[in-house]
Amino acid sequence: MPAQVYLDYQSSKPVDPRVVDAMRPWFTERFGNPSSLHLDGDEATDALERSRERVAQFIGANKDEIIFTSGATESNNLAIIGYVTRNRKRGDHIVIAESEHISVHNIAKAIEKQGFKVSKVGVDQYGRVSVEKLRKKIIDTTILVSIGWASSEIGTVQPVQEIADVLHGRGMTLHSDAVAAEGLVPIDVRKVPIDLLTLSSNDIYGPKGLGALYIRRNVNIAPIMPGGGQERGLRSGTEAMPAIVGMAAAADIMASEMPTEVLRLAHYRDRLIEGVLGRIPKSHLNGHPRERLPNNAHFRFDAIEGESLLLSLKDKGIAVSTGSACSSKTLEPSHTLISCGLLHEEAHGSLEFTFGRWSRPTDVDRVLEVLPGIVERLRSLSPLYEKEAKA
Ligand code: PMP
Repeated sequence: MPAQVYLDYQSSKPVDPRVVDAMRPWFTERFGNPSSLHLDGDEATDALERSRERVAQFIGANKDEIIFTSGATESNNLAIIGYVTRNRKRGDHIVIAESEHISVHNIAKAIEKQGFKVSKVGVDQYGRVSVEKLRKKIIDTTILVSIGWASSEIGTVQPVQEIADVLHGRGMTLHSDAVAAEGLVPIDVRKVPIDLLTLSSNDIYGPKGLGALYIRRNVNIAPIMPGGGQERGLRSGTEAMPAIVGMAAAADIMASEMPTEVLRLAHYRDRLIEGVLGRIPKSHLNGHPRERLPNNAHFRFDAIEGESLLLSLKDKGIAVSTGSACSSKTLEPSHTLISCGLLHEEAHGSLEFTFGRWSRPTDVDRVLEVLPGIVERLRSLSPLYEKEAKA
């Protein structure tokens, strides 16, 4: 049975029913392949190009700068591996942030095996990259810097404009995984000179299994998957038309609702943060106090495990997360929290709440009603807390 109070929008979002309506005909009546030369093919080609235009508009890009992929993981792979493969002659060094999503870390490991060198720039206690530290990591052979727009885990938003300014005019390419930020902070590639940008459909209430990569004009990348040459030869495979039409509809809805929606979500976030820190002793906010996503509240609680909290909340019908869903199967503490300087036990005591389109004020009330009691009960069972209380 699904949770009564769903506060894990970062892990997964429902598809907006308006998006489902837009997608529906593309499963049945309109099933043409855009590569076909008959009328059904033409219809699909028209829809493909119109969808590309709408997704481009969402981030201020041109239509020919958008490539559809199977999701954010693939977009990150295409951006990083595709870029370094194509530009190897110019250099063999890339820089990523310590706090990057696990997919970026693992892509970096994969290219290290191919002989590329990877440097990691540290973050401060709030998870923010220091522009000065980044400057020091850049060497003559650096060709690519990859810094996520915001952390999907602790919600910290990076100083993307300043980072872009540091790189500007130095012949380096900037990639940003914008999955956590899309729909929550304005993204306009006309204003911020980012060259490669990863987007995901589900993060704007579109269907899963679809993403996009923005590739600025004049930035050259190599395909990473040989095949039929769709998507300008950069991403082969028959286009997933229902999902593509869905992502375009999701982008339109998001663009029109975002200005009011982010204020509503930020209000829930702030009420939750204030309520938790005010009512629960020895609770702390992870991530930046101000430069954070409007829908994210991430806490740690001394002397208890986030997982025990999560399970107790689950018993009360509340769905939350201890961090990135992509890393939930490992017993390791979150690398993002460790990169902020937290000890292993502090990182293990963390809990993430993320609000979204169907969140209601009563969701905050319910958490504030049950969480203080849960924390108190778990601490009363914790030998760690007894020791701390006596100290
Ligand atoms: N980047 C970020 C910041 C993410 O949060 C995620 C997971 N939602 C991904 C990349 C990978 O996305 P997917 O699993 O949809 O490929």
